[in-house]
Amino acid sequence: MTKPDPRNTDLFKRFRQLSSQLGSDILKTQGAGGNTSIKSNGVMWVKASGTWLSKADAEDIMVPVVVDPLVGALREGDPRAEKSTDFVVTELNSSGLRPSIETSFHAAIKSPVIAHYHCVNAIALAVAGDRDTALAARMSAVSDLSWITIPYRRPGTPLAREIEKAATSMPDVLILFNHGIVVCGDTTEEVADRIQRVTSALSCEARSSGSADIDALERIAKNSGYHPARDSESHAVALSKVNRRIALGGSLYPDHVIFLGTEIGVLAEGQSAADLEAISCREGREAPKMLIVPDKGILLSGTLTAGGEVMVRCLAEVVSRIPEEKSVVYLSNDDEYELTHWEAEQYRQALDRGSERRPA
Ligand SMILES: [Zn+2]
Repeated sequence: MTKPDPRNTDLFKRFRQLSSQLGSDILKTQGAGGNTSIKSNGVMWVKASGTWLSKADAEDIMVPVVVDPLVGALREGDPRAEKSTDFVVTELNSSGLRPSIETSFHAAIKSPVIAHYHCVNAIALAVAGDRDTALAARMSAVSDLSWITIPYRRPGTPLAREIEKAATSMPDVLILFNHGIVVCGDTTEEVADRIQRVTSALSCEARSSGSADIDALERIAKNSGYHPARDSESHAVALSKVNRRIALGGSLYPDHVIFLGTEIGVLAEGQSAADLEAISCREGREAPKMLIVPDKGILLSGTLTAGGEVMVRCLAEVVSRIPEEKSVVYLSNDDEYELTHWEAEQYRQALDRGSERRPA
């Protein structure tokens, strides 16, 4: 039987607009992170892997998948649930793109409209040692909404299985430790309203840290493959002692590891980026994608993709929102290994490399 195509409805247009708005707010979505979905007649339309949510209104980036067979596969441990490509409704998939690597958890939640994004406020709270009590205090401002927390799992089926178990309680909001947030609802309007209210409930003030010394950064980057970060706010990582300590303590969330790797370089006083490159080369190691020049700013490798550059901004926003006195829960070495050896991610990164460079 042919599946009905809802794409010309006002409902679908509003969903695409919400997706695009969410994707255009740097404090909620960075690069190819974040995804939305809408379910209708057993088919779920979900953002395509590697695409930018900000383009949802202007471009065809929603991929249709059948919901029940995908949830069944997830429950049975069928490996096809990981990429979800076998559940795409080919006759409706006009873009030919693959569904998001986070598709299976959207399917596991019954709500008709779902928005998942990497809210910097939610992440800052969800990596702190006191996250359970801190989140409970914040979420009491939206006491009409039901909410739960989800322990860290690698995105893809490990996270989807965890969410599937918890989703039976039909929560309105799921806060994913060391990852982000999921807001659910019956309609696009309801989800948009909840996003707004939850964002203000979770809002944290960012520590101000002055501005970068671009002239010094350019001098230090001379004759190397590095350049000063083009986005002025990204430099905050390097401009305060607290921000540096938090950023260098470990990896905080998956997209950082996927796009920037597990190592952040730090230049010593008087050391140039070219010196550091030479040391990495001598030791047979890949040079880090981002370098901290203490109190001066951030240098980025020319090999970094557009998606990678914007991930530095995410890190700046997250670390600036973690209070100095709080302990931080980082990803473990095993978590990092899982992320850097994840085959499904290679596709998203390949798409990112193929995309035109976008300003951060
Ligand atoms: Zn995510």
